[in-house]
Amino acid sequence: MKRLVLATRNRGKIREINALFAGMDVQFAGLDEFPDMPEVMEDGETFEENAFRKARDVFDFTGMPVVSEDSGLEVDALGGSPGVYSARFAGENATDGENLQKLMEELSGTPPERRTARFVSVFCLYDGGTPEYFRGHVEGMIIDRPRGESGFGYDPVFVPRGYDRTFAELGQDVKNRISHRAEAIRKLQEYLRKWQRR
Ligand code: IMP
Repeated sequence: MKRLVLATRNRGKIREINALFAGMDVQFAGLDEFPDMPEVMEDGETFEENAFRKARDVFDFTGMPVVSEDSGLEVDALGGSPGVYSARFAGENATDGENLQKLMEELSGTPPERRTARFVSVFCLYDGGTPEYFRGHVEGMIIDRPRGESGFGYDPVFVPRGYDRTFAELGQDVKNRISHRAEAIRKLQEYLRKWQRR
């Protein structure tokens, strides 16, 4: 059994990542097992940079192989924002609700055909050598009012392409099949299978 540290404190993400790894020979230690680990600065300009910063800081602190993720929502009508700022779109320590509210305001008056967007997820695997990156994305559109209860973050306003319900209405099973995170994790798992055989 391979033991890795999962470098996130986001409960929504931890839940999804553990569900996506069910059945694989990998065990994740959470950051809660390292309460003295200082907060990582996520001030990079790309998902890759931020994912690497998290992985490197956690590796330096724990000495264990690390899997980290950076993700966000790119809205075309906002020039790709909030992007790497998705978690703090409405300000430092903003709640999911505040970020959603801000997005609704920024897009008010934008017609449906201009509300295209995508979720992006980048995982980084790092054990002190060359970092490996795994990227996934899912295209969709932003509706004008939140709908549904499941998931986290911007799920209540994101309708993936080919569906007419939001991620928060579709529920975790559908989301875990088609999401940006699912695609990135499939690539990571393929890599880990080879890695474990080494
Ligand atoms: P970070 O990767 O921890 O910097 O945070 C990414 C932020 O992007 C989250 O806090 C959410 O606001 C948003 N986000 C990323 N993935 C998802 C998702 O699957 N559903 C909804 N929001 C997401």
